[in-house]
Amino acid sequence: MANQNNIPSVLSMITELVKIPSVSSTLPSCDMGNIRVIEQLAMWLEPLGFQVKIQPIVGHKDKANLIATLGTGSGGLVLAGHTDTVPFNESLWQSDPFVLTERDSKLYGLGSTDMKGFFAIAIEALQPFLGKPLKAPLIILATADEESSMDGARSLVQADVSGARYAVVGEPTGLKPMRAHKGIVMKGITIKGRSGHSSNPLLGNNAMDAMHEVMSGLIQLRQELALKYQHPGFSVPTPTMNFGCIHGGDNPNRICGQCELHFDIRTTPGMDNDELDTLIQKILTPVAERRAINIGLRALMPGLAAYEEPADSELVTLVEQLTGQPAGTVGFATEAPFFQQLGMQTIVMGPGSIDQAHQPDEFMALDQIQPSIDVLRSMIKRFCA
Ligand SMILES: [Zn+2]
Repeated sequence: MANQNNIPSVLSMITELVKIPSVSSTLPSCDMGNIRVIEQLAMWLEPLGFQVKIQPIVGHKDKANLIATLGTGSGGLVLAGHTDTVPFNESLWQSDPFVLTERDSKLYGLGSTDMKGFFAIAIEALQPFLGKPLKAPLIILATADEESSMDGARSLVQADVSGARYAVVGEPTGLKPMRAHKGIVMKGITIKGRSGHSSNPLLGNNAMDAMHEVMSGLIQLRQELALKYQHPGFSVPTPTMNFGCIHGGDNPNRICGQCELHFDIRTTPGMDNDELDTLIQKILTPVAERRAINIGLRALMPGLAAYEEPADSELVTLVEQLTGQPAGTVGFATEAPFFQQLGMQTIVMGPGSIDQAHQPDEFMALDQIQPSIDVLRSMIKRFCA
């Protein structure tokens, strides 16, 4: 089924996109490319007059971003999403995760809501503007690896988006505008001491004793950060620090020779990831010197900045008017901080619910589709037409 622009219907487009596996994972055994999703989007957009650029992701075979631009000049609107999905557990699905299946007014499929469906909706929304001159460009931006390294968004530079001024990141928010989320850093601390017979502490250098001191320092830092940074928009208004796992030693009668701690910090807007490194190092250095022990700090993944779009920005005001909903905050991280760093006012808003993302029987409710088309259409009209 196709309309006058020879573009398939929204449902056909979601079906085609869901059909193409594009899992991204930090586990190499689960990781796949996204290039076929990118090529499919390019095949739809190029005949509509979009200038299509496929940007390979350095160091990743079969992975790319798509930057498709309609119109010329500077400014304009970016509709952005990721083309990868999380891994899946097929035995827990009621239907084939790669076959879009309609049941009870819901479209089931891997990535239906997070977030291949958004691209189909965006392509449907832009059709009334085809064949007419635009006052500012409309850019469809499709990234790789959002669910793992965010390397797709990381590799974008300003020239790629021709100075666009506004961005919508179409993550599932039930079409409510979201203007802030926390950032994440994940760290590992490794302490290398020396093992020895437990009967005499001087025969070794106990890594677990040193880790205890390090953790006391980190708990102190956690309290200081919570006093210094507060954001009333979040249900947990302070930054958090979670000790997630610890491994060390082997036997009660041996001095612990090595100990490793993994933890994360969820930052609030206004915090600086690099400054956190300095603060953590300030805890580690004195312990290492006093105990003559080796303490290493490393990032377990590249950090992600917290994100906040001012409540009174032009974009926030507009989407609040269009949706009739006040802008809120979300509990998950997105590519929004990267678009902000490129100079765009950025909002997170898209069809479907995050409650259905990242789990078996992911679905997009059918009643999300037309309201989403309407909102995107109004935004294109306002910023581009
Ligand atoms: Zn997502």
